[in-house]
Amino acid sequence: MELLLKPEIAENYKSPSQKARVITEKWFEDNMYCPACPSNFLECTPPNEKVVDFVCPDCGERYQMKSMSHSFGFRVMDSAYKPKIDAIKNGTAPNFVFMHYDRNSMAVEDIIVIPKHFVSPEIIEKRKALSPNARRAGWIGSNILLGRLPIDARIGIVNNGFIVPEEIVRKSWKRFSFLREISVSSKGWLTDVLSCVRNLEKAEFTLDEIYSFEDELRKTHPKNKHVKPKIRQQLQILRDKGILKFLGKGEYKIIG
Ligand SMILES: [Zn+2]
Repeated sequence: MELLLKPEIAENYKSPSQKARVITEKWFEDNMYCPACPSNFLECTPPNEKVVDFVCPDCGERYQMKSMSHSFGFRVMDSAYKPKIDAIKNGTAPNFVFMHYDRNSMAVEDIIVIPKHFVSPEIIEKRKALSPNARRAGWIGSNILLGRLPIDARIGIVNNGFIVPEEIVRKSWKRFSFLREISVSSKGWLTDVLSCVRNLEKAEFTLDEIYSFEDELRKTHPKNKHVKPKIRQQLQILRDKGILKFLGKGEYKIIG
């Protein structure tokens, strides 16, 4: 993997956003491998204005690539809201890959992949409709709430200019692929509870520590009146799938 972008290939383009798209698209085409299988290549699908899609010729996984010249914040602006929610609900949403590059050095700083199995409607935020004076008046975009996802969902391919070994990337992907069997309506709870576990920033924790997020979880899941049982249910799923170990007496450990 080469971290330097090739700005010279976009010399004939005038608009800065078009230049950026052409340059970063080329980078993905030349350098990106499939995190879901051993394939070393991804194929470009016909481009559109805002996002670039790639597909793995071996396993068929689709990736939506988006690049930006600033680091990732809590939320990342993304495409139209309604089609995105529909795609998540009917299982046709792609995986998301975000690139942060440095505009001065034209080097890749960070790349993360969010496997689609982590994506639920809860992490998609609806943006305000564009004003009546806008070119696409009334259009409603979306934000992906990266900050609400557990670190396990944000798989680093390049971190601070360092390339993460491919085997680690693929292992991280595989570890949570069981989420594909979990319904879209239950997924938000599972990833939110996993975020709480991760936010404690320790390998061993107690049930009471997770209960301390009760109010926060009640706010994000206002329809659910039984937050504590719901938390315990998610912890059980994470245990059954080999992510957590129950140590007894309300104590837990993250495996690995
Ligand atoms: Zn693949």
